[in-house]
This record gives sequence, structure tokens and C-alpha cells, in this order.
Amino acid sequence: MSAVWVDEAANAVPADKQAKIERETHKLEKRLCRQMGQAIVDFNMIEEGDRVMVCMSGGKDSYGMLDILQKMQQRAPIRFELVAVNLDQRQPGFPAHILPEYLKNQGVEYHIETQDTYSIVKRNIPEGKTMCSLCSRLRRGILYSVARRLKCNKLALGHHRDDMLQTFFLNMFFGGKLKGMPPKLCSDNGEFVVIRPLAYVAEKDLQRWAVHRAFPIIPCSLCGSQENLQRVQVGNMLREWEKQYPGRTETMFTALQNVAPSHLMDSRLFDFKGVAPTGVEDEAGDKAFDAETFAPPSLPGLQTVVA
Ligand code: SF4
Repeated sequence: MSAVWVDEAANAVPADKQAKIERETHKLEKRLCRQMGQAIVDFNMIEEGDRVMVCMSGGKDSYGMLDILQKMQQRAPIRFELVAVNLDQRQPGFPAHILPEYLKNQGVEYHIETQDTYSIVKRNIPEGKTMCSLCSRLRRGILYSVARRLKCNKLALGHHRDDMLQTFFLNMFFGGKLKGMPPKLCSDNGEFVVIRPLAYVAEKDLQRWAVHRAFPIIPCSLCGSQENLQRVQVGNMLREWEKQYPGRTETMFTALQNVAPSHLMDSRLFDFKGVAPTGVEDEAGDKAFDAETFAPPSLPGLQTVVA
């Protein structure tokens, strides 16, 4: 009896430290809700009567997305439905019981779709070649058919702010495009609206939330596929920049919401051929001989992202 008492006392967190942890967690929860709520409003992601298929991979991001979406659902002035869906691709060692148990406890409607895409990919891709493109194509097709069957009109994906920035730089460095990851867009088959309710949320906040909520994370390396090296490199670059120049991530993210087509070079977005003197002063016009100044951005988006 006394041994138990001694152990508990030794492990006890001091009251002031505990209070600080609780305050921080409360602030984190408020921030996650505020940022998701803001993204939903800014991009009109969810509307009355929507039936949203929440795509669950078993990673921290999809758990966090579902968790906060459920809170939103309770508070929202509109009615919408959530259906959590996981595709069990039959990867060796996939712990198939974890997600159904968790989702059942959460009280959310859910569906586990089991389809052995792993064997198809293994059969069709030579050893040593990357499997991801066939794997994700198969997954997309299956998830569309599940959404159709479950009568969902929207698909929610768990990409966050840092994923979006990474994609932007990947497209620029390796794809020769200024193109990020959309917060909301029609699916490529034209049938559904794809939304990313975590668009304003920082990955580090999702990491902290996952620890706080003790999500039963399923490791993402089960298929044994190589990590996307380019994405890893860009992720490291962004983290390094943020370390050296704190705040740079927010500034870059704000830039995605603050595009000036007249100051880029895409003639499909701006009619350069038709430019002629207007006779009217315009702050956004070319300052010709002035050196450029770079003031910090002052968009609502920045306040949204910054804690
Ligand atoms: S990492 Fe694995 S599960 Fe993910 S797309 Fe690639 S092959 Fe498929």
C-alpha cells in the first residue's frame, strides 16, 4: 500500500505545472477550433445539409481533423453530417482493429473499406520502383466510389498549413508551377467537393493535440515504400528557415492568400498586351524607379494563422 503511495507521489506533477499545462491545452484547443472555423467560413467549406466523408488514414492529422470537426459540428449554426472512412489497403502488419475501435468510441458514423490494393501494386510495380503513384490512384478511385455509396457530397482531407506550403515549393522547384494545394476544389472526376479544413492549422499544433488526446496513431511506413525524398527535403528547408527567421512560415502562408497577377508573368491571369496608360493614380501600379520595400503583410489570414 505504502509503495503505491510513494510511487504516485514521485510521479505527481506539481500543481502549478499542471495548471500551466491545462491552460496551454485550453489555448491550443481554442486555437484549433478558431482556425478550422475560420477556414470553413473563408472558403465556405461546409454548408447546411452537407454529408462530409472524413478521410481517416490513422495519422495524427486525420485524427485531429475528425476531432475538431466533431467539436465544430456541435457548435455550428448549421446542420451537417460526418462519416469517417478508412481504406484498409491490406498492407502487411496494418492493425485493422485500431480505427474501428476508436471511431466506435467517438460515437461517429464510420465505414472501413477493405480492398487489397497492396497486392495489386506489388504485382504491377517492379521491385525497387516507387509504388505511390499507382497506390494513390487506386485509393482515389475507391474513395470516390465509397463516397458515392455513402451518399457524401464532400470529402474532407487532413492536409494542414505546412503540407500546403510544402506543395507550393515542390511545384515551384520541381514542377515549374506556382501552384499550391487548394483549401476547396471540385474533385478531378467532377463529382465531389474536396475540402481541407486544417488549411490554417500548423503541423506542430496537430502534433501537440495528438499527444494530448492520446490518439492511437498507426505508423505510416507499413507499406515499406520509400519516403518522398523531395517532400522531405522541402520540409527540412522550411523548418530550417523558420528556425533562422521566426515568423517566415506565416509570412509565406499569407503570401498564398495575397497574389498579384499583374506582378507575375502569366498572360492567362493578366492582360499584359492590353496594358495602356489609364491617367489614374494607382498604388498597385509600377513604381518604375523606386527601390522595392518589403513591409510585413497585414492580412486577416496572418492573424488567423498566428496564435
Ligand atoms: S506511401 Fe505507401 S500507402 Fe502511401 S501512397 Fe505510397 S505506397 Fe501507397
